Amino acid sequence: MTEKSDRCMSCGVTLIGPVGARFPCPNCGEIILRCSRCRKQSNPYTCPNCGFLGP
Ligand SMILES: [Zn+2]
Ligand SMILES: [Zn+2]
Repeated sequence: MTEKSDRCMSCGVTLIGPVGARFPCPNCGEIILRCSRCRKQSNPYTCPNCGFLGP
């Protein structure tokens, strides 16, 4: 029932298709999603699982 939506962890934009980057949180391994714009600008992100703040 719940549709999985991929959202940028930094700005909250919905990622459609192979846009942006996904990588595991260095602290807990949760998958972090970032759009290409935030990756380019090195915006900070916060892990939704453990609250890790990373560049
Ligand atoms: Zn973003
Ligand atoms: Zn984490």
